[in-house]
Amino acid sequence: MAARKTIRILDPLVAQQVAAGEVVERPASVVKELIENSLDAHASRIEVEIEDGGTSRILVRDDGEGMSEEDARLSVLRHATSKISSVSELEAVSTLGFRGEALPSIASVSSFELTTSDGSPGSGTRVRVEGGSEAEVSAAPHPRGTTVIVERLFYNVPARRAFLRGIRSERATIMDVVTHLAISHPQVAFRLSEGGREHLSLPAAKDLLERLAQIHGVARARAFREVSYESGAFRIAGYAALPSVTQSNRNSCQTISVNGRWVRSENLNRGLDDAYRATVPAGRYPPVALHVEVDPRRVDVNVHPAKQVVRFSEERAAREAVASAVRLAIEWRPHPPTAAPERPLRPTVQQPLASAPRREAPPSTRQIPLQIAEERRSYPEVDLKEAQRRASEAARGPEEFAPPEAPERGALPSLEEVRVIGQLAACYILLEDPSSLWVVDQHVAHERAILDRLTGSDGPPQVQDLLVPEVVELSPSEAERAAESLEELALYGFGAEPFGPRSVRVTSAPSILAGKDIAGALSDALAAISGTEPGHRREDRILATMACHAAVRLGDRLSQREMESLIEDWLTSRLPATCPHGRSICFRIGTREIARKLDRH
Ligand code: ADP
Ligand code: MG
Repeated sequence: MAARKTIRILDPLVAQQVAAGEVVERPASVVKELIENSLDAHASRIEVEIEDGGTSRILVRDDGEGMSEEDARLSVLRHATSKISSVSELEAVSTLGFRGEALPSIASVSSFELTTSDGSPGSGTRVRVEGGSEAEVSAAPHPRGTTVIVERLFYNVPARRAFLRGIRSERATIMDVVTHLAISHPQVAFRLSEGGREHLSLPAAKDLLERLAQIHGVARARAFREVSYESGAFRIAGYAALPSVTQSNRNSCQTISVNGRWVRSENLNRGLDDAYRATVPAGRYPPVALHVEVDPRRVDVNVHPAKQVVRFSEERAAREAVASAVRLAIEWRPHPPTAAPERPLRPTVQQPLASAPRREAPPSTRQIPLQIAEERRSYPEVDLKEAQRRASEAARGPEEFAPPEAPERGALPSLEEVRVIGQLAACYILLEDPSSLWVVDQHVAHERAILDRLTGSDGPPQVQDLLVPEVVELSPSEAERAAESLEELALYGFGAEPFGPRSVRVTSAPSILAGKDIAGALSDALAAISGTEPGHRREDRILATMACHAAVRLGDRLSQREMESLIEDWLTSRLPATCPHGRSICFRIGTREIARKLDRH
């Protein structure tokens, strides 16, 4: 007989700890919530100190408005918020927080201490909470602003503690979080350090581009193109990198904020992928920093307690707006598209990412120069949209076309029978055999052939010294990973050494990369190392990134001779039908089908 079940109301502390799991998943979520509180308090400088990747200690200090003693007492109580007081206000919430959950949640699963002052003479309050116990309040001096210290996160919830990844991984995630928040608020100074070591130091920037240069380095920042776009309910501003600059981890280089809030949105990410499709290999992500403004009634930020997931009333339109905005920014247009009317299509929004409408009530046309607002009136919304669509279509390159039929996976031409016809669109090699036409992706086929050579050789890699050492600027999280991985990369032929806090100097590289993008290959190899444990899988990933960089790219014009030897290398490799990243390599169209299409039955 089954045991009789008993329903009981959870002890409030237990309920709080359970709920905490939704807001506080890992050290990085604590950092995010605390920084967002500092931003809501209009801080101009935010300092974060961590120990052991945030697992043993996190400190966030700001110079914001601070709190009175009474507010400090209330701040750690559940549903205590100064930011909204009715459900209707939720619709137009302009602060990052509003649920009044973060501080009590964090305090229930850590040793928590908050010290704050609103700057009035003699003020200063300290609130201590030990694992969700009752708060101890005392007087303590503090300059105007707030300091929160969170120690021993999850010490009283062992199951959660067990879910933490390694210290390096938690640290890298925190670096990503600080980076994203710093990108969505360029005018605020940020600093992240650990045991005296500075991970990030970002003085207040004058605009988004300056902030991006602080983070990605001046060289990479040159590849950013300004995004300025408006369509229907969406207004999008920011920067998008040209497809030549990519990273392997979307989470550390693509920032999207919606109405001032940094968000994670699968839907908008897909919009970015749409924009870069056909110009960037799968699994590669150009850095992007976009601010999307939309009527707050058309977006729900209260989908998840961490307030990072957003839902739009028109998901599809949101994705398309992001895709068009980025596409327009990165496209190279030799001539102005003929379909475009003479007047400017896109009123430029004179507004940096940070000055979002966060605290300035609903996004208004206030910041658009009056004259352009006039112009918009004389162009009905629908015309504008249609014209933009046509303009972007007219400017789209040939690589956008889709193959006419699904690829037949696994099927390959035989080396003895094929003849190279030529190259299509500088991307595809066309082959014929007695019964068909083959279309081969030149990059993927070449990559396959190179990888085969790399994995097949047991000896040491062939290495070439660089005549002029190359200095590779890394993003903060890459630099963090690099420090511990350079020795391992030497096994693959990369001779590199730390060069300042944020770069490495490469003195030699694997010979197959001669004349190629060595900086890109190195940073990808670093990324490949960071994600996996040592062993075969890791080796395969490193070799795959090297093969990818050594291979010809889409857009490279090849001579007949080059195509012939590429095809031969590919078809004689051990696994010609498998792409290292699981993509299709080629497809065939039978001559019979061609005849049918031409009505020759
Ligand atoms: P929420 O941000 O959703 O309101 P929190 O639990 O994060 O809830 O914070 C509770 C309240 O404490 C906030 O509404 C705010 O009034 C106050 N507060 C928290 N952090 C700070 C800070 N760094 N500076 C000033 N006030 C703060
Ligand atoms: Mg908050």
